[in-house]
Amino acid sequence: MPSDHHQVSRWKYDRPPSLQRFMADFPDDDACAAWLVRRRWPDGFVCLGCGSKRAWRLEAKPWTWECADCGRQTSATAGTIMHSTHLPLRTWFIAAHLVATHSNGISALQLQAKLEIGSYKAAWLLLHKLRRAMVDPERDPLEGMVEVDETSIAYRTKDDPVAGGAGRSHAGKLLVIGAVECKDGGKPGRIRLSVIPDFSARTLKGFVAASTADGSTVLTDAFSSYQGMAGRTHLPKTVGVMAAHVLLPWIHRVFANLKRLALGVYHGFRRAHLQAYLNEFVFRWNRRRHYRVAFDMLLGIGVKTAPMSYRGLVGCASPVVIA
Ligand SMILES: [Zn+2]
Repeated sequence: MPSDHHQVSRWKYDRPPSLQRFMADFPDDDACAAWLVRRRWPDGFVCLGCGSKRAWRLEAKPWTWECADCGRQTSATAGTIMHSTHLPLRTWFIAAHLVATHSNGISALQLQAKLEIGSYKAAWLLLHKLRRAMVDPERDPLEGMVEVDETSIAYRTKDDPVAGGAGRSHAGKLLVIGAVECKDGGKPGRIRLSVIPDFSARTLKGFVAASTADGSTVLTDAFSSYQGMAGRTHLPKTVGVMAAHVLLPWIHRVFANLKRLALGVYHGFRRAHLQAYLNEFVFRWNRRRHYRVAFDMLLGIGVKTAPMSYRGLVGCASPVVIA
């Protein structure tokens, strides 16, 4: 094991360290690779092809092992988001740290400045790849009491000025549906957000079916499209007596935060990327107290090696499997 393994493994990161601390913990690519190896193979290297533990490290290729049984070569980054990257590992690590710790999201421009990357395009691509890692394909549906509501969000077109302002005549509206778990004690749990084509019963019920577990209780504003949801108890709240944000406080808080983010960070969402923005928002919300899980997930680090800790943290039925 590399000499810096002790130092790196001591970094517990249950809570996010400062950027300064993080950068000191990972001074170079070797430190990142060493941590990656420890994280992925805590009990020693295992071949991703045949599962053999008999392998030797190649001298000619950095952080790469060759299996003694099947001959497959596996690098420390194999199966992660960093595989075959042209960027230094440390750049990925710092980017994942910044994305995981920014409570409101980070723009490609901010990322470029922080990482001191030469081109905006490279920073944008990096951020785009990290965003793609934000959806866990194995995630569990929401359960218990779940507030569901719809809203519309303005978007800007290519021709609109980034800074917004007067020239927003091209701005349109996109329909969004959201759900949030209501925990005991009135605290919000996990959320889901999705772009939808319309407010038809089929669309709304389709979202509810896909986002909530069988047996959930769904709270809505009594909009008729929600009537008759299979396998769910429907608890319609009658609008008219009270404002919707009083009846469904958490989903309205989610929508309000989302719209603030759209204007504050992104200067208006772009239509083509709206679902990606929503995914990022959901990722941040659902993992806001799970820095370690967020960091691993962003880098696409397979959690096969530590499924228990992953399950324990996010309550997932099964760990993410990196293909
Ligand atoms: Zn093998």
